[in-house]
Amino acid sequence: MQQFIDSYDFTGKKAIVRVDFNVPLNENFEITDDTRIRRAMPTLKKVLEKGGAVIIMSHLGRPKKVDPKFSLKHIVGRVSECLGVPVQFADDCQKADAQAAALKPGEALLLENLRYYAEEEGKPRGLAEDASDEEKKAAKAAVKASQKEFVKKLASYADCYINDAFGTAHRAHGSTALIADYFPNDKMFGYLMEGEIKAVDNVLKNGQHPITAIIGGSKVSSKLAVLENLVQKVDNLIIGGGMGYTFIKAEGGQIGNSLHEDELIPQAQEIMRIAKERGVKLSLSVETRVANDFNNEAETKLVPSHEIPEGWEGMDAGPKSLANWREIILSSKTVLWNGPVGVFEMPNFAKGTLQIAEDLAEATKNGAYTLVGGGDSVAAVTQMGYADKVSYVSTGGGAMLEAIEGKELPGVAAIRG
Ligand code: AMP
Repeated sequence: MQQFIDSYDFTGKKAIVRVDFNVPLNENFEITDDTRIRRAMPTLKKVLEKGGAVIIMSHLGRPKKVDPKFSLKHIVGRVSECLGVPVQFADDCQKADAQAAALKPGEALLLENLRYYAEEEGKPRGLAEDASDEEKKAAKAAVKASQKEFVKKLASYADCYINDAFGTAHRAHGSTALIADYFPNDKMFGYLMEGEIKAVDNVLKNGQHPITAIIGGSKVSSKLAVLENLVQKVDNLIIGGGMGYTFIKAEGGQIGNSLHEDELIPQAQEIMRIAKERGVKLSLSVETRVANDFNNEAETKLVPSHEIPEGWEGMDAGPKSLANWREIILSSKTVLWNGPVGVFEMPNFAKGTLQIAEDLAEATKNGAYTLVGGGDSVAAVTQMGYADKVSYVSTGGGAMLEAIEGKELPGVAAIRG
């Protein structure tokens, strides 16, 4: 049965907490952005305040074996500073029995990188490239078998389990999903995870109409499942950025050298058909800022999005598109945004994405619920200084994308189930 941090009695208990401390490090192993550490603090501090002790576990990078480059010892100092108590370190996540047993209320222990062990991800490592199917099958079965022991060991350190790692919630790994089975009555979400789940529910389950989704970015192929789910749920679907040109081509438009995926034209047509059938307003770019080369200094001009000349490519949404989209955004009660509407990394083509960030901020001020979820749109609102002017900015790239595809994430199912 799922529990909740606020009502759970942590007195004298040890909580094993899965966090996402996968922070970027420079060549001197210094943290260059500690956002992920800071965002886990409310959960960890709450357990300590309520008389519990925390055993913190995370992955860092993608080590394929024990590799000091990916050691979590590099971050112990920063975690201690943020938490306000000295954090102990266990240099092998499978050999922390004594340290875990000795933990007293108010104390914290950080386990070494979970991904030093293949069992965390449950995928075999070191298979020869020419391994036969039989060998692959046997290796997979072996790692799955030892995964049980791996997870059981982690679970043995604690009385309860908290998952606060939304960024890995779409993976059915040992520490993100399987471990929950050992705590049938003592498992819960951390605050960060709860916030992310609520944010998605605020749009997809309880969103007030009109609901608008703005989907941009480079490729239709990477967001096809997102579009297929959203077209069933929203009132307005704005499709911009590079992926928009596949839709414009599917409508018979001339798109010059713009990014597009011919093989996805049938899927784009199907999404447009469903939108029509459901009465969803699907809004594509009507005016595009094109360039004669893919670089910031290229020559540019504004053209109708369906009449892009040969030798020119769409780089950003033009003012007429942005005016249409602004009207839609400001008349919505719920807005979800994923993906930039132009090549925002180049200052000359960032105007459209900046305008969307401004429109979302204004809609939020007027009382709309606005969620910015996933990858580059998160970087864009953060860089542009709008992160605190929208209702929620998600921390989980792939996990957020899968959540808006409508999938139940294994890390979420493990706690709720
Ligand atoms: P995604 O990871 O799919 O959200 O895509 C983000 C990327 O899409 C960013 O790097 C943008 O530069 C890129 N992008 C947005 N609009 C365009 C466009 N019109 N042409 C090429 N790339 C674009």
